[in-house]
Amino acid sequence: MPTIPPAAKHRLYRGRFAPTPSGPLHFGSLVAALGSYLDARAQQGHWGVRIEDIDPPRCPPGADALILTQLERFGLTWDGEVSWQSQRNDAYQHALERLVAEGLAYPCSCSRKQWADSPIYPGWCRSGLREPGKPVAWRLRSDLGPRPVSWDDRLFGLTTFDPATLGDVVLKRKEGLWAYQLAVVVDDAEQGITDVVRGADLLDNTPWQLQLQTALGALHPRYLHLPLIVTASGQKLSKQNLAPPLAEDAEGVRRELYRALVALDQAPPKALAAEPPKTQLAWAIEQWDAAKLVARMERALEEES
Ligand code: GLU
Repeated sequence: MPTIPPAAKHRLYRGRFAPTPSGPLHFGSLVAALGSYLDARAQQGHWGVRIEDIDPPRCPPGADALILTQLERFGLTWDGEVSWQSQRNDAYQHALERLVAEGLAYPCSCSRKQWADSPIYPGWCRSGLREPGKPVAWRLRSDLGPRPVSWDDRLFGLTTFDPATLGDVVLKRKEGLWAYQLAVVVDDAEQGITDVVRGADLLDNTPWQLQLQTALGALHPRYLHLPLIVTASGQKLSKQNLAPPLAEDAEGVRRELYRALVALDQAPPKALAAEPPKTQLAWAIEQWDAAKLVARMERALEEES
């Protein structure tokens, strides 16, 4: 079966934290930021921050600045300039045009209501618009790229999906907004990202991203999908389920950074909890070991609280 090989051995490491500024960071996003930061710093790599603000209605003004302040407060200092996806329209348009020219993307006039009985979009507009004249979204031909796709995830191991069973994902929405899948691939490629470290909620988005990388002639980064932080009832910690905001006071910051190290299964010594971020991070960079990550983060958290 055609597989996508793990990334070639990169001499350079370039990682990134790519938050959607739909609100301030919460503990779950702190863990994702910390995991990608430590992985980069432990390999003397570059660690950038990219604000994924392609969906203005979901991004309240000022949330991006707040996120940057939070990162600084936790000692997570980034390299280079922060980038904003809202300023990258031309790059995404160019990529979409390339996909269209290669027959890998197509316009679609269907509304979700029309295909409500199907688990995924059935591909009706693949061979031409069903209702010409209506506004169109642009979709990926998930059946034409490499499939199934596999990658050697640093936590989940060899992971295989058939993108066609996930459906023809939207690349540009009817209102003209760019979709995450296209923007993330274009930016990771342009920023030379070698290592993506992010939450496991994006595991099943990776197949489309691998297909898009192949279609756009980009390298495949290595992937490390971090176990998600869940609430006591097993839900993903998120803004939607009202995850509490991160601490702002020095003592709270120390405590939460320490808890994040525990959540990443790095087994920090108890005494580290009283240390400022700089000391905690220096320790964590020194002994960072992604192999120590375990899926049962909740248990580690419970033991700590
Ligand atoms: N912007 C995405 C999020 O906040 C993360 C994208 C990524 O790391 O690939 O969930």
